[in-house]
Amino acid sequence: MNLVAIVGRPNVGKSTLFNRLIGVREAIVEDTPGVTRDRLYGYSDWNGKRFMVIDTGGFIPGSEDKMERAVREQAMIALEEADSIIFVCDGRDGVTPFDQDIARLLRTSKKPVTLIINKCDNAIQLTQSYEFHGLGLGEPYPLSALNGYNSGDFLDQVTANLTEDGTEGDGDTRLKIALVGRPNVGKSSLSNALLGKDRSIVTDIPGTTRDAVDAIVKYYGEEIILIDTAGLRKRSHISENIEMYSTLRTSRAIERCDVAVVIVDATRGLEDQDKKIINQISDARKGIIIAVNKWDLVEKETQTSTEFTKKIKEDMRTFDYIPIVYISALTKQRITKVVEMGKDILTKRQTRIKTSKLNDVLLPLFEKTPPPAVRSQDLRINYVTQVGTEPPVFAFFLNYPQMLPESYKRFMERTIRSNFDFEGTPISFVFRRKNVPYEDIKR
Ligand code: GDP
Ligand code: GDP
Repeated sequence: MNLVAIVGRPNVGKSTLFNRLIGVREAIVEDTPGVTRDRLYGYSDWNGKRFMVIDTGGFIPGSEDKMERAVREQAMIALEEADSIIFVCDGRDGVTPFDQDIARLLRTSKKPVTLIINKCDNAIQLTQSYEFHGLGLGEPYPLSALNGYNSGDFLDQVTANLTEDGTEGDGDTRLKIALVGRPNVGKSSLSNALLGKDRSIVTDIPGTTRDAVDAIVKYYGEEIILIDTAGLRKRSHISENIEMYSTLRTSRAIERCDVAVVIVDATRGLEDQDKKIINQISDARKGIIIAVNKWDLVEKETQTSTEFTKKIKEDMRTFDYIPIVYISALTKQRITKVVEMGKDILTKRQTRIKTSKLNDVLLPLFEKTPPPAVRSQDLRINYVTQVGTEPPVFAFFLNYPQMLPESYKRFMERTIRSNFDFEGTPISFVFRRKNVPYEDIKR
């Protein structure tokens, strides 16, 4: 996955630009019920090149005195990790000493940097962007992230070196499992436990990444690829931006995997950071397993795992399709179950349900509990068909697709899930306008 990072001082308009970049795409992308929130990363595309954008502004620490160090460090991380960098300056402020400081850093790298002079809302301000030539980062692009003026042109430069193919797999059909989670939950331990003593078969899969080394687990003769994000802490030069850095690495691992295993520390329960990761995997429409690790440390009363499961499900209502497994990387309890579940989820993601079966099962249920009438119009779902796998995507045809309430979409998802087994994978919906009843289409 191509990665583009937006860097710059606070208040220059990074998040405004970010929203503009991802907004274009988010508006037309598949409908995902129930997940809207502030984002630090998102997806965009330009001329057929899909990329992930990260808004580094979301990671700035609260305190003023740490700000400069944090921004400088972000620029360094972006140089290491991103494929292309957008450096935003404020056209109204002119060139500040801190801008010069960041520019000096950015000039040390071969990575492409696109210099944006933001807040050029009109022709007068446009002329002020001239002085930014002095930063030595090539032609500055004046624009207004707020009103959209001039946005577009600069994307040619931002995406010039990105690869065409951002979405499709790499042709490797082996199951890819990513181990993700907060520091110290046991990612390395699990990875080592799964790999056994001989960690000899470590390969760099060509054409996939420059930065991750994947390992291969042999499971009953089948090769499974383990993408692990452990080892983040070894980067000693990162002090202010651990969260940004691990978000970047985790994002990449998630993008490349079929199934992500979110490792949770049994002694701490599900934390906010874990929920963020789960949201992110769901956004990427990848398979998900929650592995509660260090289960050996938890007092075993009869009900413990049931209660733990209940608590997690309560905490994350929209995600009750995610299977939970209780493991110990230390004693190796149930660790192969994780691999088995991963295999199982991949199979479910690849399942294609026959159109006739979908309609026969679902339409009567939707008819029995129809959507509420909107402005005295009856909404009628006429037809459903599965249009995609990995992840499964369902297209619904109905008379007024825009009017379908979110609550009903969630009901539809629950109905699909209780009739067809998609445990462990997000499913997506698209809604199209069509009045033809299913009976006519079938003929
Ligand atoms: P960040 O801290 O770099 O992410 O900056 P924000 O995106 O939060 O923007 C900081 C302020 O500048 C906000 O009040 C924005 O509305 C404003 N802003 C952003 N882009 C523009 C622009 O193109 N023109 C003007 N006039 N204001 C802008
Ligand atoms: P990472 O940062 O997620 O890679 O976590 P590590 O694998 O380095 O583990 C962090 C700490 O937790 C280490 O001290 C491990 O020995 C310990 N640990 C990991 N898994 C288990 C487990 O299943 N049980 C117990 N008791 N300790 C564990």
